[in-house]
Amino acid sequence: FNVVAVSKTRTKEEIDEVAKMGLTTFGENRVQEFIDKYDPKYTWHIIGHLQTNKVKYIVGKVDVIESLDSLKLAEEIEKLKISEDPNKTGYPFKDAKNFISQLQEFKHIQIKGIMCVASKTEDQALVESEFDQMHTLYLELKEQYPDIDTLSMGMSQDYKLAIKHGSNTVRIGRAIFE
Ligand SMILES: *Cc1c(COP(=O)(O)O)cnc(C)c1O
Repeated sequence: FNVVAVSKTRTKEEIDEVAKMGLTTFGENRVQEFIDKYDPKYTWHIIGHLQTNKVKYIVGKVDVIESLDSLKLAEEIEKLKISEDPNKTGYPFKDAKNFISQLQEFKHIQIKGIMCVASKTEDQALVESEFDQMHTLYLELKEQYPDIDTLSMGMSQDYKLAIKHGSNTVRIGRAIFE
């Protein structure tokens, strides 16, 4: 089970404090901010939309790109995002299987799993159904691709629900840092 401490907007000092408690995997969503705070002691995930022209700044520093959302991004990568909402970045859920199959052609990308951000809503049933769809997709992919072992879903407000629905990686910001 993995916890990514989402450190976007937090200072280096705050990150070091959290690391003392034993959490040493951090998630950042902006390249510039990540570079300013980067410390090779820790493990880093990019969790926000990544522009192709910024990849060069993070290669060798980032362990996982959770937000791989286009064929253009060709570096070490972990997951996909589910999204039907035009305001959200990510890869459309319905095409995810096809996308992952295309990514197999990239020799320097290892697909470790899929990631989603659930809809922002009070409707718990909707969130549960999104988590369930992701979990089903995850199990199908795992069957087909032996390297896939990560289902990243759940944030401060919904991580319990996500774990109940099969998540094995949560990305928590506020609940850790506040
Ligand atoms: C900010 C963020 C999180 C963490 O959100 P919290 O509500 O602070 O736990 C998780 N995943 C992504 C993609 C984020 O941008």
